[in-house]
Amino acid sequence: MIIRERIAAPSPTLSFEFFPPRTLEGRKALDATIAELATTEPDFVSVTYGASGSTRDSSREVVRGIAQGYAFPPLAHLTCVSASRTELTEIIEEFLAEGVRGFLALRGDPPQGEPDWRPHPDGLIYASQLVAFIREVARVYGLGPDEISIGVAAFPGIHADERWRVQGLEVLQAKQDAGADFAITQVFFDAHQYLDLVVDAQAAGITLPILPGIIPVLDSTKASRLEQMTGVVVPPSLLAELAAAPNDDAARSVGVAHAAALARAVLEAGAPGIHVYTFNQHRAALELVDALDLGRTGRRS
Ligand code: FAD
Repeated sequence: MIIRERIAAPSPTLSFEFFPPRTLEGRKALDATIAELATTEPDFVSVTYGASGSTRDSSREVVRGIAQGYAFPPLAHLTCVSASRTELTEIIEEFLAEGVRGFLALRGDPPQGEPDWRPHPDGLIYASQLVAFIREVARVYGLGPDEISIGVAAFPGIHADERWRVQGLEVLQAKQDAGADFAITQVFFDAHQYLDLVVDAQAAGITLPILPGIIPVLDSTKASRLEQMTGVVVPPSLLAELAAAPNDDAARSVGVAHAAALARAVLEAGAPGIHVYTFNQHRAALELVDALDLGRTGRRS
């Protein structure tokens, strides 16, 4: 079953996100993390794609390792950043040749040190264009539209400003029209933000399933990194609880309990699954899975 079929199935999906390691030690640690989380039999796992050449190679290696070594499929993130159409074609074809059939099509964040996002002169500008581009490369490669799955990003919490809300929905609609099969959300900490996005999207005629992205926040350092990376503010009440925790284990319990409450709220309201941002660590993710009634429990080592 390919990823979009898994997401369309009635039982909620479970998936994890990893980022590409920069060092050999990081790679070994990530391999161990993936092996631990494999015990929960996820529906798929995704690997982010950076702006620099070295993390791109590392990302592709991790995706390749998952495609070859596990029963669940990888979802390869792909961005428009610093890539010509020719380069994008080569990367997509390489993934397809390795058996990868799932892509998360993103515009991407600008490379470090560049405040503004600037497209490659012979590249793509928007994620919706990348969706159509992947579909076309796959078609030329000989794959039918039902043989690959393409996901895109969606952003809860855009409701504060009506203009952003409408633009956000138009952009999501354009991604669906271009051939996206599902969306995964940016992190959020208020279930209503996700549920409002789903209701508004449906009212606007958007039918693709929207998977909530859930993150267990384990300490204030990771919280600030998350805020820097995403612009999403971690609730001060959660930060205060983490700060008051007497040790790392207690802090992890706090972060997992918050993530589990959020995941339960969106699953009970009909979310098609949960996508767990792992920060490449398995313990909190396994404890989160244990705390949810998804019919799976991970083996804890
Ligand atoms: P787009 O949909 O292209 O939107 C980018 C901007 O252009 C938005 O402001 C949008 O409003 C505007 N826009 C879009 N279409 C149009 C149009 N037709 N006309 C006018 N304006 C338009 N980043 C990485 O670098 N690597 C990753 O691996 C990665 N993984 C992610 C995974 C998830 C689940 C999420 C939610 C985000 C991820 N990101 C990643 C971050 C993402 O690339 C950034 O948030 C980026 O700023 C927006 O990406 P997008 O795909 O939504 O872009």
